[in-house]
Amino acid sequence: MSPTLDRELFNQVMVPNYSPLPVIPVRGQGSRVWDQAGREYIDFAGGIAVTALGHCHPELTQALHQQAEKLWHLSNVWTNEPALQLAQLLCDKTFAERVYFANSGAEANEAAFKLARKYAYDHSGPQKHEILSCENSFHGRTLFTVSVGGQAKYREGFEPVPGGIRHLPFNDIAALEASISERTCALVIEPIQGEGGIIPASQEYLQAARELCDRYRALLIFDEIQTGVGRTGKLYAYQHSAVIPDIMTTAKALGGGFPIGAMLCRSEVAESFQFGTHGSTYGGNPLGCAVASALLQVVDSEAVLDGVLSREKRFREQLNQLNQQYPVFDQFRGQGLLLGCALKPDLLGKAKQLLLLAQEEGVMLLIAGPDVIRLAPSLIIPEADIDEGLQRFGRAMHRFLQEP
Ligand SMILES: *Cc1c(COP(=O)(O)O)cnc(C)c1O
Repeated sequence: MSPTLDRELFNQVMVPNYSPLPVIPVRGQGSRVWDQAGREYIDFAGGIAVTALGHCHPELTQALHQQAEKLWHLSNVWTNEPALQLAQLLCDKTFAERVYFANSGAEANEAAFKLARKYAYDHSGPQKHEILSCENSFHGRTLFTVSVGGQAKYREGFEPVPGGIRHLPFNDIAALEASISERTCALVIEPIQGEGGIIPASQEYLQAARELCDRYRALLIFDEIQTGVGRTGKLYAYQHSAVIPDIMTTAKALGGGFPIGAMLCRSEVAESFQFGTHGSTYGGNPLGCAVASALLQVVDSEAVLDGVLSREKRFREQLNQLNQQYPVFDQFRGQGLLLGCALKPDLLGKAKQLLLLAQEEGVMLLIAGPDVIRLAPSLIIPEADIDEGLQRFGRAMHRFLQEP
């Protein structure tokens, strides 16, 4: 007899590193999702900034089906057409000249950090190995990426962790000036800290980071795993400014729900990953690359990117109105469709509680730490779904204020 697939079974068969909600979504279309009981939700979460074109977008479904009937996998002993096509697209659309494919964000960052170490080793020697990162940053869950990430709680209990990493206060130019040196091989920055609470890097900070990296021959790495693929209204967030990184990582929305990540860099930097220095069995998988190419072609259009900005406006206007009625938030921050709603000081720590109420009202949200509600919906979410979802969210805010 097959088991009942419910939340109870999770506790019996899954490692308890997650604590998912009791409802089990089983189907999605656009920005609407249905659970096992047929209840419908409006999706303002988008996975976690993953389903950039909503659920089951026809062009992505078609790309996946077409590739599924041709070729699922080779290995990196052969090259494959979908990987070449996607790499060409990424190079055409960004500063990058070379691409390495991985299966997730953490793996893309792992490659970026290893490449930065190797590049410094090749050009300056082993003493130039220090990686500078920002407090509160998030770069993934492998041992190297939790070590570079600026949240100690993700490292606790896993020590010893890799060394040669320093964490500096985010957006603090003086701290960066004081810490960067000839020993620095790389500085890694999220253009908007995602998991850390939707906190944008300032233009001055990014500019100073670029100048200091140039002065000390350190590589500037942008982790665009959450901010990339149209999320902020440009294909990549760095394209809002004149600051160009040496290495950039992208994942999450790149596959629109199909696992894929990539590390992008200039060719001169790429030279430090020679044959045999790094690799992955699945990296460049034809299915993932076919879906990602289709997705990039849809997202990198005026219609979608301008649409992100008009949707941001719609969200912000209505959120401000709701907040006048039900004063819950102190601040709305972020850019494009990566928005953080920071709770008022007397409500700190209660973001999860509000998320649960919203879920009951039929809208899926995210949190970014205990004090921030995070919205990362589909980049093409219909206006009617924004309005309806925010009405539901308003009901949740109302109830939230009435609860003890
Ligand atoms: C999600 C995320 C990662 C990790 O990506 P995974 O696919 O979960 O490994 C790394 N960096 C940032 C900025 C992220 O948001």
